[in-house]
Amino acid sequence: SGEDSRAEVLVIGAGPGGYTAAFRAADLGKKVVLVERWPTLGGVCLNVGCIPSKALLHAAKVIDETHAMAAHGISFTAPQIDIDKLREWKDGVVKRLTGGLVGLAKQRKVTVVTGTARFVSPHQVEVEHEGKKTVIGFDQAIIAAGSEPIQMPFIPHDDPRVIDSTGALELDGIPGRMLVIGGGIIGLEMATVYHALGAKVTIVELMDQIIPGADKDLVTPLMKRIQKQYEAIHLKAKVTNVEATPEGLKVTFEGGTAPPTDTFDKILVSVGRRPNGKLIAAEAAGVVVDERGFVPVDRQMRTNVPHIFAIGDIVGQPMLAHKATHEAKVAAETASGKNSFFDAKVIPSVAYTDPEVAWVGLTENEAKAKGIKVGKGVFPWAASGRSLALGRDEGLTKVLFDEATDRILGCGIVGPSAGDLIAEAALAIEMGADAEDIGLTIHPHPTLSETVGLAAEAFEGTITDLY
Ligand code: FAD
Repeated sequence: SGEDSRAEVLVIGAGPGGYTAAFRAADLGKKVVLVERWPTLGGVCLNVGCIPSKALLHAAKVIDETHAMAAHGISFTAPQIDIDKLREWKDGVVKRLTGGLVGLAKQRKVTVVTGTARFVSPHQVEVEHEGKKTVIGFDQAIIAAGSEPIQMPFIPHDDPRVIDSTGALELDGIPGRMLVIGGGIIGLEMATVYHALGAKVTIVELMDQIIPGADKDLVTPLMKRIQKQYEAIHLKAKVTNVEATPEGLKVTFEGGTAPPTDTFDKILVSVGRRPNGKLIAAEAAGVVVDERGFVPVDRQMRTNVPHIFAIGDIVGQPMLAHKATHEAKVAAETASGKNSFFDAKVIPSVAYTDPEVAWVGLTENEAKAKGIKVGKGVFPWAASGRSLALGRDEGLTKVLFDEATDRILGCGIVGPSAGDLIAEAALAIEMGADAEDIGLTIHPHPTLSETVGLAAEAFEGTITDLY
């Protein structure tokens, strides 16, 4: 057959989707080969995404808190930033996790093959590594090849001063003035880090608000805070040209409050991610890839070719690690003969900015757009004792309920730790909880989690005690 080896289940890509699928299939008794083009496992999330960004955001938070405490009677001298040491720590966190995956793969006897996989037939991939090609046959395959940052044609991406999120996480210096193109989650998280480290940040966003997917009232407290911190935030504005000059990157803007031109030391381009569907020669296996590069799948994560599955960023929005891992289990279980379906009611989204913005299920924007009548319970954190004790009062917890049944349909939270708090609402939605269920659940006092219970009480009109 011309095959160098054969897998029962072959997985392309070792991100959160790919490694989860490989491990689950191996646990269910399959002989699994996991192909990854990068030297480490973990994909975007562990190497250049979720994890390194959160390590740096923690550092940013510590710096910000030392500043904030000055107003409450505790002053520190200005932080001394040893960028090399900070980078080493961040790299160490990543290495510990990606190294851990190697051990977990070994334990399960998952064969890891380094190289870039391309389909050459419906039952074979060719894997290329440093000029050497091998052919691996498979009974079933799971495509988990992820996504990559979108580039813009009028931006000189080959200039080292122009970076994407991967470049930003490399942390090879702190620019004087930094422009962030795109006010989405990734751009705002990196802006948080670079601002704390001392850069002067400008954000330019095409839409009329930052984090366009979230409700405006949730974004407002974040907007208010960063407006004071950053040099400028230009909404309804776009970059139309970037010219690399020896003095800096000369940017031409259009719209909003943006000046016609301005010059920056660094530009972070964070305008979205594109799926890698066009890079795997899917046509050789007969797998359909849409014009944007997404691979369409059904609820069992099957592509149009029944023995080939796809999961994670490559199958569509939202491009989030926790979506990828859940889809991964469905694909691996289905490939192993189990009757599994992707049946999540909701997938939470979190911006790990300061304050954090988190939401799950129906948003108010969506409810309005769809003409769905919802009732809402809102609890402002200015009435939360714990929030005040943290030196913060701008947070908000908002829970949306079905007017007819009182069942929870969605929740949005802005404030410190909103990302952790949103999990309760996700569970409530999955369980079909109503406002009474949430309001009668005893939340520990004084915690920020109380704000979820109190928002439900506010909806029911039973709220009495504050603080
Ligand atoms: P990826 O993680 O993209 O993995 C795909 C893997 O496939 C890669 O390792 C790639 O090298 C490999 N590959 C591709 N093509 C081939 C091929 N032909 N042959 C062999 N290997 C191949 N999500 C969250 O949920 N929370 C967060 O906080 C968060 N923060 C983020 C921060 C940043 C800066 C970025 C960029 C992303 C963040 N994300 C976050 C998104 C998250 O990283 C992705 O949703 C997640 O990694 C998708 O997993 P995946 O398995 O689909 O693909």
